[in-house]
Amino acid sequence: MRRLILALAMIWAGFGAAAQELSALARLVPQDSRIEATQDGTVRLSLALSQPVPWRVRVMADPPRLVMDFREVDWQGIGGIAHPGLPDLRAGVFRPGWSRLVAELPGPMLVAEAGMVTEGATRVEVELHPADAAAFAEKAAAPEPPGWALPPPADVPRPPAPGSGALVVVLDPGHGGIDPGAERDGATEAALVLGFARELKEALLRQGGFTVVMTREEDVFVPLETRISIARAAGAHVFLSLHADALAEGEAVGATVYTLSDDASDRAAQTLAERHDRADLLAGVDLTEQDDLVAGVLMDMARTETVPRVERLSAALVTAIKGAGLRMHRHPHQEAGFSVLKSPDIPSALLELGFLSSARDLARLQDAAWRAKMAAAIVAGLKDWAAKDAVLSGMAGQ
Ligand SMILES: [Zn+2]
Repeated sequence: MRRLILALAMIWAGFGAAAQELSALARLVPQDSRIEATQDGTVRLSLALSQPVPWRVRVMADPPRLVMDFREVDWQGIGGIAHPGLPDLRAGVFRPGWSRLVAELPGPMLVAEAGMVTEGATRVEVELHPADAAAFAEKAAAPEPPGWALPPPADVPRPPAPGSGALVVVLDPGHGGIDPGAERDGATEAALVLGFARELKEALLRQGGFTVVMTREEDVFVPLETRISIARAAGAHVFLSLHADALAEGEAVGATVYTLSDDASDRAAQTLAERHDRADLLAGVDLTEQDDLVAGVLMDMARTETVPRVERLSAALVTAIKGAGLRMHRHPHQEAGFSVLKSPDIPSALLELGFLSSARDLARLQDAAWRAKMAAAIVAGLKDWAAKDAVLSGMAGQ
């Protein structure tokens, strides 16, 4: 560590204008990167990069984790350097122009030394020492620098003019950026559901009568709360979150429609909802204020007409998907406390297109003909729901 040219104190200052000029894309060099742990609990992380980039490091609490932000680093191969000292590494785009690496820590630890070596190859070296809870809590509570908050949703289309008649569908491809979602055989949930969402959008536009807004158009991290904000800003009539998670519990196979409830259908459904909140938490989103919002929202829901509309939405989707002869889970409609479904007044559903824990579901998701059939079924389901909903809840003309 003696060759480090930057002291820790300078890292935060490294956000200056000069540092910003180094904005070309850097790459992780996985074969030259490593993690080491010693018996006294010290963990050393050494990341080789193809070129120097502005970066910073900090710790965050609940759970204890190391968070490193870098200007535009391609993290391909990061999974290969995981080590018992830091077994769970995740990395990806955090906000435009910045990528984030998050490593869960085995307990409270502090950054003892950190720096970037630029003589010869570029390396970022971080040494972590076990720390007492109070010292860790103090460092973890350090405020973020100004301007570092996640950006507000950008480019949200205006809602259609009243009476235009188009049903505003907000499609929400799950995960993205630093949060790849489930992974199997090199495929990620984030990429699969984004691809499917684009195809579904095309199918809805071809059908006509729909305006479609997507919560993300690329491989970028979008907090759950922002996804809801985008739906509100777009004046959504219906919100459909698209996923393909992995489930260890039981034999999870086939498409499943989830709707919001504070009582989950079963343990697996509850785990699934919690895992999505946890992905947000690990990425750096503060969920404490959202929890208060959520409690109020659940009470509001009981007072609104949204619940029966959501019931009709899930029934319409299940009927259409089954009607198309597509494989559904043996319990095709389930309930759980998914944060992304908590808009009080927008009928919302989360569709697991399949489960990446199933090889057959993955094969289906990678089959263009299957996806086209699924997209057509969802279009039919939404059309059917909209027609019934207009009659039953007087939505027409809204
Ligand atoms: Zn998911």
